[in-house]
This record gives sequence, structure tokens and C-alpha cells, in this order.
Amino acid sequence: VIELGTPERSVVTTCAYCGVGCSFKAELQGDQLVRMVPWKDGKANRGHSCVKGRFAYGYAAHRDRILSPMIRDRIEDPWREVSWDEALRFAADRMRGVQQTYGAKSVGVITSSRCTNEEAYLVQKLTRAVFGNNNTDTCARVCHSPTGYGLGQTFGTSAGTQDFDSVAHTDVVLVIGANPTDGHPVFASRLKKRLRQGAQLIVIDPRRIDLVKSPHVRAAHHLALTPGTNVAVVTALAHVIVTEGLMDEAFIRERCDWDEFQHYAEFVSEARHSPEAVALLTGVNAQELRAAARLFATGGNGAIYYGLGVTEHSQGSTTVMAIANLAMLTGNVGRPGVGVNPLRGQNNVQGSCDMGSFPHELPGYRHVKGPEVRDIFQQAWGVEIDPEPGLRIPNMLDAAVAGSFKGLYCQGEDILQSDPDTKHVAAGLAAMDCVIVHDLFLNETAHYAHVFLPGSSFLEKNGTFTNAERRINRVRKVMAPRNGHEDWEVTQLLANALLEGTGRPLWSYTHPEQIMAEIAATTPSFAGVSYDLLDRLGSVQWPCNDDHPEGTPLMHVDGFMRGKGRFIVTEYVATHERSGPRFPLLLTTGRILSQYNVGAQTRRTHNVLWHEEDLLEIHPHDADNRGVKNGDWVRLASRAGETTLRATVTDRVSPGVVYTTFHHPDTQANVITTDHSDWATNCPEYKVTAVQVSPSNGP
Ligand code: SF4
Repeated sequence: VIELGTPERSVVTTCAYCGVGCSFKAELQGDQLVRMVPWKDGKANRGHSCVKGRFAYGYAAHRDRILSPMIRDRIEDPWREVSWDEALRFAADRMRGVQQTYGAKSVGVITSSRCTNEEAYLVQKLTRAVFGNNNTDTCARVCHSPTGYGLGQTFGTSAGTQDFDSVAHTDVVLVIGANPTDGHPVFASRLKKRLRQGAQLIVIDPRRIDLVKSPHVRAAHHLALTPGTNVAVVTALAHVIVTEGLMDEAFIRERCDWDEFQHYAEFVSEARHSPEAVALLTGVNAQELRAAARLFATGGNGAIYYGLGVTEHSQGSTTVMAIANLAMLTGNVGRPGVGVNPLRGQNNVQGSCDMGSFPHELPGYRHVKGPEVRDIFQQAWGVEIDPEPGLRIPNMLDAAVAGSFKGLYCQGEDILQSDPDTKHVAAGLAAMDCVIVHDLFLNETAHYAHVFLPGSSFLEKNGTFTNAERRINRVRKVMAPRNGHEDWEVTQLLANALLEGTGRPLWSYTHPEQIMAEIAATTPSFAGVSYDLLDRLGSVQWPCNDDHPEGTPLMHVDGFMRGKGRFIVTEYVATHERSGPRFPLLLTTGRILSQYNVGAQTRRTHNVLWHEEDLLEIHPHDADNRGVKNGDWVRLASRAGETTLRATVTDRVSPGVVYTTFHHPDTQANVITTDHSDWATNCPEYKVTAVQVSPSNGP
């Protein structure tokens, strides 16, 4: 029993788990955090929360936290605890040495989607202004980079179009490749409320997620497609809408490029895209697909919500564009209750992308090749900016294996556990001369690090996070950093250790508010954002500037960001990952409510709920064929590798499909996944892996 007592004070801050961005009051007795209370005025959550935000914050005080910097000459050596000064000097000397030997482009950074906007901004600035290259990337590479590409091409910007409030005006909800009740629980409650009021639901997912059938909600249509066939299914929906004349022609004529629409309409009208023609390929009943298309086109306000089941495919970007086409085709953009809404995974993945964490884009999604954009930052930072795009994470690792990339500063990201093809990631890290890991815990990547810089938790810092609806929320310091420095300070100290002796001015931020002022001065969509405004309004959705002084709840109201909306032909191309006699089943992956991503935080809490193991869901038919019973250990093998886990026999998955989560390092889910990736962005194809399942005696 924990005696909570009466809190003496409280601080309003933002949850550090998922992209819903719930606001909480952190209540304290003295310096002791006694509970997190969902804040009733939080605009993303309106007083609600899920178990993670409310109860899974204990990791910040966990004994595994590393609080002192550590260094070692070689990764085989034991760690040595040293002062901050010594660690930063060691890191700077190594990175300088790497650049002197291998050139300016031989080092790079990975920004964190767990950290604040201000921290992500500083890390990409470190790359561009101090290292002198554009080798900066973020975890969006492995999750929503196809959203950036696909929505950028069709609508002109990589942002979700709606606010969460908009769901209250929706008549037909299309959920594709997302599982909101587990992944985005507070938004899922708002969605379910609307469904209980009578809105219709279409689910496109290989697995029977809870929304398909739960005590109070039932989907009108569940299109349980074969993993990897999203493009074929969404194009078939468009085929029905176009060939049956159900599109919103007035919207298309007014808001979209008409010539491109005609080209697109000809393409989707081809008989090969009909539901009947693709039924065998997709595994979706043609009549069900036709009925779903008719419902979406004629059922009133139609809103599309999607997640990593859309993006983490070799055709992730194509599917995002197919979804945008569908929204434009039915006139479902630019008013409450409609739109295209990517459900972002990590708390600040939207923000880290907004802040220029991509190797081709400066803050505000502006290409580094643009001289006028570079000029803004050259003036602000007093340096020349490289006009050539830098390396993405997989390219950094390839270059490391090839011997030309030798130094990495990785903030708040565990690429060895989270990125595909673990063996290749390990080989890349092992080939580097200087790996700096900046994190709360000695994570898997740190096994290959030469420098470990302790990180600060969200409770120990000031700044902002941006959620999936582009809402910028304040993160307020609840307690002093246990490691002595907020993460933005550590990046500044590293930058200054590198700048020392160069004659160039040192960085001198004293509070993240100054970093936000620099972001506002250089990034038009943030021009009106300040901590004063956030304190006054509670939060604000970008764009926030002179045209939208109190932010922008709905995007593309009068016109698309790019002018006319652009229909893009989305040809289905089968993934190279095929099932066959050796690997006859298709594995897809997801999350459970109580865990978060690789579990670095949720596994370090006291409640037993947070220690559930990863299980393999397998259909009774496939289980019987293999002599596998509920709870048995099984061997899961793919062309890339193998692992062992327990089976759950269930008809949630279709015959031929198996499913697991990836929250525990022991599961080693990414030993199984392949090196296939999205054609446009290199986002890994986590959602389709050909596998075989066989009985096992356990690990
Ligand atoms: Fe945190 Fe997401 Fe849960 Fe809200 S829904 S409390 S942001 S994990």
C-alpha cells in the first residue's frame, strides 16, 4: 500500500509516451512525485488518460538510470565513470579525429522522438552548424517517414489534417493499419464514443483488432487483407467509387488538379483494379469491399485514421498517397469530421520531424537544396550550410560497414533494438570509431558505444512536445534532473566542446524558451509560438503565425498547402518478401496497451501488468497443422533469423498470418525482420515477414 498523502504542489506537463499527447498534473509532496492526474483542461485528452501515462512513470526513478557519464577506448573495455567535462572532451576529441581522418561527412546524429522539440532542434543544428553536414535522421525513418513523403506529395505538407475534436463530427470512420485501443488509447475512447453515437466503422487490418467487435462497438466492415496488399485494397475502393460515379466531382474540380484526376480516374477504372480482380491477391471478399467503398463514399463525413500498418511496408509511401487520393476523391478534406489522420507513435515524433531531423529537410520541412531556406539558417547560425542532403539511418549503417561513416551521436533512441536487421545494425555500430549514446539507460545500442551521456526524463526538463494533431504542448520541469543536466544542455555542452579553439562563437542558451524563440524566428509554421502563448492558450496547433495567431485546428480548409490537391497513380507492386514452402506464413507486428515500443520505460515500472511477455498469435488451423497448443513454446524462423516465444492460438488472425508484439529485448523481433524497405523513404517493412512456426522446448 502506498500512502499518497495530500499533494503540496502540482506542475502541468505532457505525457512522454504516445502521440496523443495527454496533459497531466504532476502532484508532489516536497520533491517526491506522488501521482499523475490527467488534466481536465488538456485539449488532447480533456481529463482522460490511459494506464501508461497515469501509472507508468516510475522509470524516471528506476535504479537502472545511469547518472554519471562514462567512457571507454574500445567497446571491449569496461566503462569508466568520469566527470561531464572529461566525457565531453573525450567525445569531442574522438569526433574531431574522425572528421580529420575520414572527412566532414563521416559523422552524423540521430535525434530523439522522446525528447522535446527544442532538444531535437539543437541536435540537428549540431549536425548542420558544427559537424558541417546533413547526416541527421530520426526514428520517423522506421515509422512515419512515408507519411512525410506521401502527404507532402499529395497535400503539400506532412501533417495530419484534423484535430482530435473533429472525430465528434464524423459519420464514417475508416481505420487502416492502426490499432487505436492499444496504441492511442485516449483517442480511441473518443472514437468509440462517436461510434456508440451511431457513426459507421470500416476496419482494414489483417488482424481482428478490438474495434472490429467489442461490447459496445462493431465494425460495419472488416477487410482482413493479406499483409502487404494495402495498395491493392485502397485502389480497389477507389475503383468502386469512380466506376459507380460516387466521387465528389464538385470538390475535385474546385480543389484538385483536374488533369491529374482524370489520369488517376482512368487508372483506377481499369478492370484489373476491381474488387473481384484483386480478391485472390488481397484475400478480401469482393462484395464486402464494394459495400465498404459505397459506405465510405456516401455515408456522410468520412475520416481516415491510419498507423504503422500503412507505413511500414515496401509500399508505405504509395499507400499514404492512395489514402490521400481516397480522401480527395470523396471530398473528405478541409472541414470538421473528415480528413487524413496519421496516428503518430512516439510522443514527439511529429515534433522531431517538424524540427528538421531529416537529412534532406531543414526545420519546417524545407529542402536543404533551397538557397533561400539555407540563407535563413546561415544568417541565424553564422555558418555555411551544406546544400547536399545527408545520410538516412540505414545509409549511415551501410556506410559504416563499408568504412566511410565512423562517428554517431545517438540521442534517446535504441537503434540496435528498434531498427530492422539487427545483425547489420550491430555490424555498422561495431565498425565506428566513436559512438556516443545519450540515454536514460544503458540500452542495447550502448553495448557498441564509446561514450555514454546520461539523459534526463520528461519530468526533469522544460520544453515542448508536438502531438499527432500538430498540437504543441508544454513540458514543464517537475523535479531537478537526476543526472545534473537537461538533454538540451548536454547537446550544447557537446557542441561547445567541439567549437572550443575554432574561434567560432560558443552556444549560450540558458533556457529552452530561447531555443523556441530561435525556432519561431526561422520556421514560418512556428512563427507565432512562444512559451507565453502556450501558457495563455494551454497549447496550440501549428501553423501558428500572423495568419493563424491562435493556431490551426484544421488543415487545407480553403485550399491545399501545395495549392491544388494532387492525385497520384498508385500502382500496386508486390513486396519481395514472399511466403513459400520453407516460410509459408506471414508475420505482422503490433503493440499491446500496457507496453510501449521496445519497453525501455514500461518494463521499468513496478506493476506486473507491465511485464507481460510478447506472444505469437497463430490461427487454430495453422496451430493444429504444427501440433502447437495454446501456451506452447514455438520457434519462429524467417530468412533473416529465428527466435523463440510462446504461442496464443486465436482466430484474431486469419489462417496463414501470425502476429506478435516487440516490447521485450528477449523476443528479438528484429532478428526476424528483413531488410526490405519503403521505396521512397527506406522505412523498414516490419509488417510483412515470411516465417515458419514449429514446436520448441523454449529458449
Ligand atoms: Fe500517454 Fe498516450 Fe496514454 Fe495519453 S493515451 S496517457 S499520451 S500513453
